[in-house]
Amino acid sequence: MSALSEAIALKVHYAVGAPAWRSRAGPGRVVRAVDGVDLQIAAGETVALVGESGCGKSTLGRALLRLEEPTAGVVRFEERDLTTLSAEHLRQRRAAMRMVFQDPFSSLNPRMRIGEALAEPLLVHGLCNSRSARERVAEMLDVVGLDRRVAARYPHEFSGGQRQRVAIARAVIGNPRFVVADEPLSALDISVQAQILDLFADLKDRFALTYLFVSHDLAVVRHVADRVAVMYLGRIVEMGAAEDVFARPAHPYTQALLDAVPVPDPTRERARIIGRLQGELPSPMAPPSGCRFHPRCPRAMSICQRDDPSLLPVASGQAVACWLYAPEGGAPAAERTPVSLASP
Ligand code: SF4
Repeated sequence: MSALSEAIALKVHYAVGAPAWRSRAGPGRVVRAVDGVDLQIAAGETVALVGESGCGKSTLGRALLRLEEPTAGVVRFEERDLTTLSAEHLRQRRAAMRMVFQDPFSSLNPRMRIGEALAEPLLVHGLCNSRSARERVAEMLDVVGLDRRVAARYPHEFSGGQRQRVAIARAVIGNPRFVVADEPLSALDISVQAQILDLFADLKDRFALTYLFVSHDLAVVRHVADRVAVMYLGRIVEMGAAEDVFARPAHPYTQALLDAVPVPDPTRERARIIGRLQGELPSPMAPPSGCRFHPRCPRAMSICQRDDPSLLPVASGQAVACWLYAPEGGAPAAERTPVSLASP
């Protein structure tokens, strides 16, 4: 089955301190936000992209919609290479690829009534005339659980959860096929998050949507994802069916992330703290040599400091970038010497 959305050897680098016209990677100091990612998302899937803040997951999500310019590699949507499309062809494609942002307030124009904000993508992409756009807006407000009369109101008159319903309605009103949701729950009260998750699920069924769900919260992802891709310092380090990743996390980083998900049992909670993630995420301007996770990895071996592991299938079904799972028994015995976390 061909992918609906696809990244091949994708890199998005930023030159630090460069003027805007040189914001793609040039010589000098470079932030390697996305640094060689292959990802395929099939039609109808929900893929969750997880990792710590700063690991590059939001940049990857935006790059899949070509809201970020790739430094290298290819981004395809419905088998068309987005990196070679003209501005006009890209504009036409945008109706089919939409984004839901973390902060619904900043994604809505405060001077635009909700009805106008929802009608705008329909009119910009020539999907409706203004009369049928009004009808479509009213229908869409029903679908996302808001009263039709709110079309006359402004964003500041809504709660955070209601604003996110509006932002989601604006993303899906033009019948897109692919939606990237970038931390769509993290600005919301915990009591509202479950309702918004239910709304995403309902819209997926109703409109046959495909999602990339970007989140630092694995507890959230567990409820929505068909597949999970775990990202660390610009690379995917583990990818697989959600049930496999949650039941048998293979990469030590995934294990640490899962161990950090709170459990409502104080005894179990205390017992797990020892396994939690140590240290800070290194700078994406100077990623560590070898496996990028090695300075924080409790299972690091000598080979990990020198050689970069590839993402390869493992017995439990996922693909994992880790020398613990290297083919033919892993790294040679001489290379398997455990190293201290204090090692450079
Ligand atoms: Fe840890 Fe080595 Fe695997 Fe990296 S390759 S995750 S350092 S064991």
